[in-house]
Amino acid sequence: MKLYLFEAGVLRSYKHFFTFAVDVGKEFNVPVPFLLIDHPRGKVLFDTGNALEVVDHKKEHWGGILAAYDPVMSKEQWCVNAVRSIGIQPEDIRYVILSHLHLDHAGGVGHFPNAKYIVQKDEIHYAYTPDSFMRGAYIRKDFDKPVDWFFLHGWEDDGFDLFGDGSLVVCFTPGHTPGHQSLLVNLPKTGKLFFAADSCYTDENLENNILPGLAWNFGDCERTLQKIRRLRDDLGVKIVAGHDPSSWKQYKQAPGFYE
Ligand SMILES: [Zn+2]
Repeated sequence: MKLYLFEAGVLRSYKHFFTFAVDVGKEFNVPVPFLLIDHPRGKVLFDTGNALEVVDHKKEHWGGILAAYDPVMSKEQWCVNAVRSIGIQPEDIRYVILSHLHLDHAGGVGHFPNAKYIVQKDEIHYAYTPDSFMRGAYIRKDFDKPVDWFFLHGWEDDGFDLFGDGSLVVCFTPGHTPGHQSLLVNLPKTGKLFFAADSCYTDENLENNILPGLAWNFGDCERTLQKIRRLRDDLGVKIVAGHDPSSWKQYKQAPGFYE
């Protein structure tokens, strides 16, 4: 089993969108991570980064939200091309697990023809009918596609073990959005890595109990951060924040890998 980390470019943004009411107006550029896990029983993506359209037509594709999050991505960094760069074809992907359906995570939906797309049922409902303050972050044309969806159902499916061997466990982490989920990757040599995605944007959210600047439900965000802290402190799991420009740099990028 191998774990590859990719970066679908960066978002040029502002700090307070990631740390609520902290460093208001300060420029803050964040990575857009996604993962590929090459497991003996199938290749799996966790998230897909931005859509290819942001390379040449970001204004048409993302609209007004560009003022808050401005994507800078090359064609080579788009998930399909990034995966090809390590010799894997989009047809080879068996599962795409989506943390949630925001624009910097769901940009590759529909480009992996043989994949099942694992998403929370509540997430897809909300993505079609978001609150006004969340509307800009969901690009319907990114996810409104006839793919093979595989739905998980909140707490009932918390701890969903994809291959039944404990190597890839999907954890329900609501708050940022109603159907947010994170991925626990248990590697034989490296150990346990918890890819929080946007349930923990940066290390600062976790360390200083700072809520995210964009959230569906702050109470759920706080409970989810508590749960992540318990994974770290009680079970010794390494937490990988979803958009932390400093800690992300410490990790090997593809073609390097973890095993
Ligand atoms: Zn994000």
